[in-house]
Amino acid sequence: MLELKNISKIYGNKKALDNIEMTLEPGIYGLLGPNGAGKSTLMNIIADVIDSTSGEVLYDGEPIKKLGDDYRRHIGYLPQKVGYYGNFTAANTLEYFALLKGLEKTKIKESVKEILEKVNLQASINDKVKTFSGGMKQRLGIAIALIGNPDILILDEPTVGLDPKERINFRNVISELAKDKIIILSTHIVSDVDMIAQYIILIKKGELIGMDTKDGILKLVSEDENITLEDVYMHFYKDEEQ
Ligand code: ADP
Ligand code: MG
Repeated sequence: MLELKNISKIYGNKKALDNIEMTLEPGIYGLLGPNGAGKSTLMNIIADVIDSTSGEVLYDGEPIKKLGDDYRRHIGYLPQKVGYYGNFTAANTLEYFALLKGLEKTKIKESVKEILEKVNLQASINDKVKTFSGGMKQRLGIAIALIGNPDILILDEPTVGLDPKERINFRNVISELAKDKIIILSTHIVSDVDMIAQYIILIKKGELIGMDTKDGILKLVSEDENITLEDVYMHFYKDEEQ
């Protein structure tokens, strides 16, 4: 279980996150908000990549700052922008990140194969990354995040650049992984999370404006049974640039 206690983040004089409080249990969370809402900042803090200005994150009751590497072992993180070595193959890339993550060398080859199967890249295991399509690179990014079988998976805008077919494939991959994991997906595209997220988190200008099951979030705006998540998004963010 993850608990965020009064998380704020200030960059210079810009308040990117304002007193965020939330508790996350295993499940798929869609983190929604327009550009600049604070999604990446929040994910970076949960992934322990950057520090919050105030507040703390607890993992099973312990501050992550105290747990250090013992916490980071549980995290798989796909940042919004990922760079790859074009001349590495898919296997090289995963082996490299597996070494960085401290996996036992003897186990790396086997687990690389397994992970590439999970994201449907097994046929391209020995192909160079520079030959990959946008969708394949995105799946490789998810594969990297899956190294070490983390129980918290943080994917920042994982569907950017995917075509409709790849989006469906992505949903299937995530749904299959979901068991017993906390999965947080950020997006500013409602349809990306509408089908797979069990919980929706809405943030706006660094503030948490709602976190609930999808039904609960719909009811925030209307009791009308025809209301869609798209309507909710418009309701809260219509005045914002997309
Ligand atoms: P999102 O991922 O929802 O688009 P971000 O977390 O990237 O939002 O950004 C939230 C706010 O914080 C934005 O106003 C952004 O300009 C600002 N911000 C993000 N990172 C930095 C940084 N490293 N330095 C200064 N301001 C930043
Ligand atoms: Mg972002």
